Amino acid sequence: MIYDAIIIGGGAAGLFCAIEAGKRRKKVLVIEHNAEVGRKIIISGGGRCNFTNIHTRAENFLSQNAHFCKSALAGYTPQDFVELVTKHKIAFYEKKLGQLFCRDSSRQIVDMLVTECRKARVAVMTGCRVHDVWWRDGFEVETDHGVFAAEKLVVACGGLSFPKIGASDLGYRIATQFGLKIVETRASLVALVLAGEKFGELAGVSIDSRVTAGKQSFRENILFTHRGLSGPAILQTSNYWRRDEPVTINLLPDADVRALIAAKRDSRQTLANFLGNLLPQRFADAITEKKFANKPLNQLSNLEIEKIEQTISAWRVRFSETEGYDRAEVTLGGVSTAELSSKTMESKKRPHLYFIGEVVDVTGWLGGYNFQWAWSSGHAAGNAL
Ligand SMILES: Cc1cc2nc3c(=O)[nH]c(=O)nc-3n(C[C@H](O)[C@H](O)[C@H](O)COP(=O)(O)OP(=O)(O)OC[C@H]3O[C@@H](n4cnc5c(N)ncnc54)[C@H](O)[C@@H]3O)c2cc1C
Repeated sequence: MIYDAIIIGGGAAGLFCAIEAGKRRKKVLVIEHNAEVGRKIIISGGGRCNFTNIHTRAENFLSQNAHFCKSALAGYTPQDFVELVTKHKIAFYEKKLGQLFCRDSSRQIVDMLVTECRKARVAVMTGCRVHDVWWRDGFEVETDHGVFAAEKLVVACGGLSFPKIGASDLGYRIATQFGLKIVETRASLVALVLAGEKFGELAGVSIDSRVTAGKQSFRENILFTHRGLSGPAILQTSNYWRRDEPVTINLLPDADVRALIAAKRDSRQTLANFLGNLLPQRFADAITEKKFANKPLNQLSNLEIEKIEQTISAWRVRFSETEGYDRAEVTLGGVSTAELSSKTMESKKRPHLYFIGEVVDVTGWLGGYNFQWAWSSGHAAGNAL
């Protein structure tokens, strides 16, 4: 065995783990089936990679064990990553809500990771697919380019989202093979498909809203699509959405619609024009046509005003499904945290087997949290190899 550890997956978590282990003079091999490492980093954040969130806390993650991520996040913080980015002279900015983006290109993050890998003497093999793994006095990994062996194995091959850039189910297969439990997976941070009436004619219209699913609310834009809704508030909600529960949308979170109509009780302005002053006119026209009568305000009955308020301030929508893994930013669920040490990410059942990054049942909100989990969990495992 010429390697101390093999890391499957040259994404954010795998590369970061390799760097930390390499710095500690461990001989590590990263195996990546794409022709280049970090493809997801390159396409992330609209090409500018939202690489962390300075407000990262355990509350920003979903997992069956809400405390699991705490130790790794404390061991390698957003500030630590910011220092690394600064050391590499990568210009960045805070877009909103603590979200840090590269000013120029997400490729700079990949270049930084590759440079750090070189400095740490990490071996990286690209264009090499892992097919199978077994244990025989150590781990053996069967690939396109033969069988590689190492005492330790790190599974960093991500989740199921964006299969067109290399996502595979290998991580879950390895976990199952070695007897680890998987928390059911689902596409998340993804647009949702409306169950009933669609608003295809409104595709492209965006509205600053408060969206609530269960106990969780998000105040950001929603975006109408041909089949349903998207936009940051909906992507955030998709983490919490359950098929049989409606989602409530307040389309005017800063206004009291009933009071606004009451103030114009004598007005002959039509409802569509009135709503068009508060919301995008295309939306005001469509919702008035579908749900109300386009009367002058002075002719609206109390019942009608009640319905308008309900629809605008507490619109209850049902979604039938998500737009699926092809469009999802992440996979919810994954290798159960009950199976892993929160300090090292090592399997409790299978010594020397580690799981990091998105393949683990730790899913962040939209806004840089998922990359921070990749860096932090990679760092925890890299220091334990
Ligand atoms: C379009 C998009 C935009 C995103 N934007 C952001 C953002 O701005 N901020 C943020 O925090 N998060 C973002 N995310 C989420 C983030 O990219 C992931 O959470 C993160 O990349 C997970 O890192 P990972 O290393 O665990 O997995 P990945 O980055 O998916 O890496 C896994 C690697 O394993 C490789 N692999 C898989 N199977 C095999 C195999 N059989 N053999 C060899 N190699 C294999 C894959 O090719 C891949 O390179 C975005 C996701 C998408 C899809």
